[in-house]
Amino acid sequence: MSKIKNIGILTSGGDSPGMNAAIRAVVRASLYHNLKITGVLRGYEGLIQADFIPMDGKSVANIIQRGGTILKTARCDAFKTKEGRVLAHKNLVDSEIDALVVIGGDGTFTGADIFSKEFDFPIIGLPGTIDNDLVGTDFTIGYDTAINTVVNAVDKIRDTAESHDRLFIVEVMGRDSGLIALRSGIGVGAEAILIPEAKVGVPELMHRIETGRKDKASKIIIVAEGDEAGGAYVIGETLKEKFPKYDIRVSVLGHIQRGGSPSCMDRVLASRLGVAALEGLLEGKTDVMAGLVNKEIVFTPFSQTIKHIDAEKITPSWLKLVEILSM
Ligand code: ADP
Repeated sequence: MSKIKNIGILTSGGDSPGMNAAIRAVVRASLYHNLKITGVLRGYEGLIQADFIPMDGKSVANIIQRGGTILKTARCDAFKTKEGRVLAHKNLVDSEIDALVVIGGDGTFTGADIFSKEFDFPIIGLPGTIDNDLVGTDFTIGYDTAINTVVNAVDKIRDTAESHDRLFIVEVMGRDSGLIALRSGIGVGAEAILIPEAKVGVPELMHRIETGRKDKASKIIIVAEGDEAGGAYVIGETLKEKFPKYDIRVSVLGHIQRGGSPSCMDRVLASRLGVAALEGLLEGKTDVMAGLVNKEIVFTPFSQTIKHIDAEKITPSWLKLVEILSM
């Protein structure tokens, strides 16, 4: 029998669509197993401020379809200090919370890894990030929704680009990872995709455009914000200078990529992982993230999830695919 009686749940770092579905799953699974469940507001900041709210089945009613997170999220520098974490631990003990489920990305898991080892405190993580940049899960919660948001937006840009014979440079999120750019770029039929992993500079990009098919009315170049060539505006300026014959426009999609109602894929992923995380905790698992690999639930130590990018996710064959399809 597990000694866990009261579970705390929080969302931390950058928000992603589907976090609410994950909260709902963890809350409902806790109630199913006759456990108390306590919401921690604003991530690790709420641990340090003891900002706790009791949760029940009703507190997660009608949220599965909502973007954002009802528990709020924050970035919390105090949690990076020993004093901050000591206070967080004291608040958990005082409130008789004996395990945590944390939903977030690599920063959240870095903090959870330190905390769980420091205080021998049970923690399981759920991958909540639009970037899909965690090792130990094929997809993160929010990624599917984010790439569909990009596809919907760029389809609209394509309409106007086609009407005016324009070249559009569209910047999408992904500071360290080009996965959003890669998938959405393929989805919109982009003429080129610039991602940090591929290291295609502006000269090579223009060589491709110049030697590509001449009869294309519009051209869409998708750029990940972390690409070495610089942001979309920098690339746009360089291109305007060197290739004045093109009518070039820049569009930075920005925060719309984080919001919106989660896709069914993200809702189901969040629901499965949420229940698995709770049951994993009861089986004594800790310091791990619940993920989905080849359709199976797997638990991966936090320290292995945060290598920033799963190198397997961007293979040369993906890049070849982009090249073939942009002919
Ligand atoms: P994400 O989880 O989306 O990657 P962040 O990188 O902002 O988001 O991390 C979320 C929070 O995790 C940070 O605000 C901080 O409270 C905590 N965190 C990140 N790195 C560390 C660390 N090295 N030590 C302790 N806590 C950390």
